Amino acid sequence: MAIRPIVTYPDPALRQRCVPIEDPTAEDARQLAQDLAETMYDAPGVGLAAPQIGVSRCIVVTDTAWREDGAERDLHVWVNPQFLWLSDETRSFEEGCLSIPETYVEVVRPVAVRLRWQDLEADWHQADYDGLMATALQHEFDHLDGKLFIDLLNPLRRRMLKRKLKKQALREAS
Ligand SMILES: [Zn+2]
Repeated sequence: MAIRPIVTYPDPALRQRCVPIEDPTAEDARQLAQDLAETMYDAPGVGLAAPQIGVSRCIVVTDTAWREDGAERDLHVWVNPQFLWLSDETRSFEEGCLSIPETYVEVVRPVAVRLRWQDLEADWHQADYDGLMATALQHEFDHLDGKLFIDLLNPLRRRMLKRKLKKQALREAS
């Protein structure tokens, strides 16, 4: 297992569309899931998608129960996930992203989701989620399509935020 460097905005790796994992039981898929989990816990974060470590493959890990003391872990691995349904009802939630450090903004998304995904045994599952899990899954699965939460803001807020991020990047580079 290894903690991998997290790719940050505006790295083009975050804009790639991921390819499905053909054999979730293969050793490289298992290794990728382990690296994602270890990197997520180290960060720390509640979710991490493969593009965030520079790998354009359809796999995400989440743990919305986990807190920094590590007492309660509830690791989920989502391979080749697809939403089957998104609720009409939405809610606004303050989101952050390990690939866009120190940026927290209110994002509006469907409050509930239904999805299907594979596990590392290649078995398919289907389930409904709401609350924090529904928000985290939408945020993470967007990464697999090369989308970022800043894309969901209205144009004015998006422009302001991009300007801020550009300044931040310049500061870090100098
Ligand atoms: Zn993210």
